[in-house]
Amino acid sequence: MQRVLCFVLGLVVSAGAAGGWLREQADIMGTRIVVELYHPDTATAQRGVDAVLAEMRRIDTTMSPFIDSSELSRVNREAGRHPVTVSGELFGLLQRAQRVSELTTGAFDVTFASVGFLYDYRQRVRPDDRQRKTATALVDYRQMVLDPARRSVYFRRPGMRIDLGGIAKGHAVDRCMRLLQDLGIDNALVRAGGDSRVAGERWGRPWTIGIRDPRDRDGVVAVIPLVDVAVSTSGDYERFFEQDGVRYHHIIDPRSGDSARGLRSVTIIGPDATTTDALSTSVFVLGLVKGLALVERLPGIDAILVDADGKLHYSSDIEPARKPDDGVKATSPAVAP
Ligand code: AMP
Ligand code: MG
Repeated sequence: MQRVLCFVLGLVVSAGAAGGWLREQADIMGTRIVVELYHPDTATAQRGVDAVLAEMRRIDTTMSPFIDSSELSRVNREAGRHPVTVSGELFGLLQRAQRVSELTTGAFDVTFASVGFLYDYRQRVRPDDRQRKTATALVDYRQMVLDPARRSVYFRRPGMRIDLGGIAKGHAVDRCMRLLQDLGIDNALVRAGGDSRVAGERWGRPWTIGIRDPRDRDGVVAVIPLVDVAVSTSGDYERFFEQDGVRYHHIIDPRSGDSARGLRSVTIIGPDATTTDALSTSVFVLGLVKGLALVERLPGIDAILVDADGKLHYSSDIEPARKPDDGVKATSPAVAP
């Protein structure tokens, strides 16, 4: 299976600076990275930007399933045969993924990749029913054994694979935010695709993030002001193709090995991006009723869901300032958390 990769294009576009404000973007981890930050000392601000981009690249080379030499690829090659000792960082993230799997009774499951690898959304490739069923039998986070004493990973079923696409970008964003804090940068936004985290303010006002209209590239269904939080959106429009009127996209229901189709997008707001990233993927798989029920149980977590008809649903702590009418776009600000 051929995958077109753009993990590091090295394409860094400086979108200009004002005072100590800097904004740069780059294509890393197969997604768009954005960093925007302020420090009164421009050299420190630039160090912050450089640190973020370097950290994103480092995490990509460790955790990408598409890079043969990555630690994750080594796990996928060997862990079905014997326990593989991994770095503390990867082990910690796998433990976190396991906890989310338990919390969501398996809606979030990094072993989804056992069947997920049979899809190629760019090439419009998907498994046939028989292939899908055989591969889905290998999906089960409980068969991925994590041994903290040896810091090792072992797959009880040979042929199992993992992919951290549902949690690694959030992890990367959190790591970058910590690096910025260490540099004394208190006003910043770091984004990796659909996963963002903000600190402080932007030009003296709260950061805002727009939630994309899942069926209109340029449309926004809500704009949320944010203070010191993380936001992640998972959507069925990120990577997909359509065949016979069915949308095949990158968020997989581990029970069926097929795309989860109850919702169009899920946005989660919470304290850190690792959590919001994993939960946005989880709630997408759980669907409207179970997904919102989970969010209501979790303190400090809020959600905005777009259902299969394009209707917006909010968790109870979010008060829509103005609910957009059907088909009406760009409300500013539509939602105040
Ligand atoms: P996100 O955009 O954060 O929702 O992440 C989507 C990515 O998560 C996909 O591209 C897969 O790499 C991964 N993924 C898909 N389905 C699942 C699942 N059920 N559990 C965990 N990760 C998943
Ligand atoms: Mg996610």
